[in-house]
Amino acid sequence: MRIVLLGAPGSGKGTQAQKLINKYGIPQISTGDLLRAAVASGSTLGKQAKEFMDAGQLVTDELVLGMIEERLAEDDTKNGYILDGFPRNIPQAEALDRLLTKLKQPLDGAILIDVDFDVLLKRITGRRTCDSCGQVYNIYSSPPSKEGECDKCDGVLQHRSDDNEETIGSRLKVYEEQTCPLVDYYSKQSMLRKIKGIGDIEDIFKRVCDAIDLLGK
Ligand code: AMP
Repeated sequence: MRIVLLGAPGSGKGTQAQKLINKYGIPQISTGDLLRAAVASGSTLGKQAKEFMDAGQLVTDELVLGMIEERLAEDDTKNGYILDGFPRNIPQAEALDRLLTKLKQPLDGAILIDVDFDVLLKRITGRRTCDSCGQVYNIYSSPPSKEGECDKCDGVLQHRSDDNEETIGSRLKVYEEQTCPLVDYYSKQSMLRKIKGIGDIEDIFKRVCDAIDLLGK
């Protein structure tokens, strides 16, 4: 199964992708995570990406496409994957189609997790991520039992540097202007399923799984 998870920053793509990994046994490929790892490693790629990320802008297509091509060549992608945060604009979606045609691995579809903008802001500012296992919390809606500490592994919870109100404004604007057109792009190919991304995480997950079952039908 090869799917794209679409949704604004804070729509819960990462949380749902984690649950899909467990259910379907396929990897999540998050360009945001790959880029943050590159920044943390201090690589040239990371240094180039950091400026854009801190400003809430998209990193150049060239950089992201190179990274994705490398990642999709890895062995664990043979049975499929969940693309999270990629593609982010039409040129990336077109490049992905070309790459997947070359690899003879067409996409099964795209799932849009739809959340109103006012909800997104609260979700993003409250988001905390465990620096060891990646578990995501929200200090307003799903806080850890002990402040700043992961319930699963006792890791330290981090607030992403681009999850501040200033950067979030740009990230949401970029989403609206550059990523939203992908909804039409995948709709026109009859590949899109849209689900409501509010409410209980398990209920949202059920909607995502039902949408996946309907892909290609
Ligand atoms: P995310 O974790 O998906 O919200 O991504 C965090 C930041 O990484 C974004 O605000 C962008 O600066 C950058 N980024 C992630 N994915 C992409 C992508 N597909 N294209 C360009 N920039 C990206």
